[in-house]
Amino acid sequence: MERCPTCKAKFKGKPVCHRCKTDLSLLIKIEKDAAMHLGKAYRALDKGDYEDMFFHAKRSYSLRQLPATQKTLASAALLTRRYRTAISLYD
Ligand SMILES: [Zn+2]
Repeated sequence: MERCPTCKAKFKGKPVCHRCKTDLSLLIKIEKDAAMHLGKAYRALDKGDYEDMFFHAKRSYSLRQLPATQKTLASAALLTRRYRTAISLYD
C-alpha cells in the first residue's frame, strides 16, 4: 500500500493514516499475510510439494493481486494440472 485508500495521503508505515485517521491495520495485515503465503508457496516449490504450493499461492493471490502472486499461482496451477485455472490467470 503506497497511499491511504480513503484520502490518498502517502502511506508512512503506521497503522493509522496521518491525515484522515483511517485505521489501516487490517490492510497492513492483509499485505503481510499475502507475503507470508507467497513465501510458503516458494518453500513448498523448493520441496516439490506442488499441492501445498498451490494452496499457499491461491491464498496469496486471493489476498493481493500482484504480478508475483499471479505468476506463482499460474505456475502452481500448471504443476498440479489445473489447466483451466492456469489459463484464466494468463493475460
Ligand atoms: Zn487517509
